[in-house]
Amino acid sequence: MKVIYHPRYEEVYSGDPAAAAGRMESILKEVSPHFEQVTPEPAAVDDISLVHSNEHIRDIQRSGLTYEVALLAAGGAIKAAELAISGEPAFGLIRPPGHHASQDHCWGFCFFNNMAISISRLRKEGKIRAAVILDIDLHFGDGTDNIFQSVPEVVYFHPEGRDRREFVDVISQFLASAKADVVAVSAGFDRHDHDWGGLLKTEDYDAIGALVKRFAQRVCRGRRYGVLEGGYNHDVLGMNVRALLEGMS
Ligand SMILES: [Zn+2]
Repeated sequence: MKVIYHPRYEEVYSGDPAAAAGRMESILKEVSPHFEQVTPEPAAVDDISLVHSNEHIRDIQRSGLTYEVALLAAGGAIKAAELAISGEPAFGLIRPPGHHASQDHCWGFCFFNNMAISISRLRKEGKIRAAVILDIDLHFGDGTDNIFQSVPEVVYFHPEGRDRREFVDVISQFLASAKADVVAVSAGFDRHDHDWGGLLKTEDYDAIGALVKRFAQRVCRGRRYGVLEGGYNHDVLGMNVRALLEGMS
């Protein structure tokens, strides 16, 4: 398992909680002793255009710093996807997040849809046909859902559960019948019991990661990767990311 990271992800590019000072550092402290790091390149505008309209890209360009960091985040997702296809599980420890970014608008601390861009590039290059995107963030990834609405080969799944056991069971049941050439996790950690959602324990992220690994090994030659979405309590975020990565490893 390799972790894709760039020091520019630490820049406070806006005033939202995903861009908060110290957020990335709190994760890095937990994961960097255990996982080798890979530095990404910024995504090219051509990559962003696989998913977003020119008008939307121009809107984000006007924001300057946010645009620069958002290109690097998309580049980090692309790198994670490429590693996964080459047989190396990977995690994009990136920000800003992306799952609320649709073709021509965005909200919820997102600008470009990192996950959708990475999947679309793999498809454009003919490296995959079908994909499963498992979004474990507290919030529904309307952007990812919109982007792949008319693409039956790419299945977006956002589990819900009344308690932590049911949440993990719902993922397990979904994966039991899913088919894909790669599995990708939109990894938000805001469902943790010390974050906004108040549902999952740290060990549940390990269990979810292990389900993803088993699915990948059974169905798609082990090809699996994740990218960071939400997660806002810096006191627990790092250990939750680490638990997911250990499960996926
Ligand atoms: Zn969220």
